[in-house]
Amino acid sequence: MLNIDQDRMEQIIQEAFDRVSGNRRWQTAIVKANRQIEENPYMHFDGSALLILSDSGEIYSANGSCQCRAYQEGFPCWHRAASRLVQCYNEILHE
Ligand SMILES: [Zn+2]
Repeated sequence: MLNIDQDRMEQIIQEAFDRVSGNRRWQTAIVKANRQIEENPYMHFDGSALLILSDSGEIYSANGSCQCRAYQEGFPCWHRAASRLVQCYNEILHE
């Protein structure tokens, strides 16, 4: 489980939504990523990538890329969204 301050994460989610400007697939990915960050105990940021044990039992290592089906088919996936959110979150912490 990641140790996340929800108020700070809310702000990052909002910025993420602004950035994808109406792209429905990314919006869906961000919403799911946010829920997983709150609820999924099997997430670990190793300093460059976010390691995720997903619902399907697969372990993904996500940063700019991912190993899941959606990524292979060229679609946004929540793993990458989660990775990005956590990285933005960490950057804010270190400002
Ligand atoms: Zn993925």
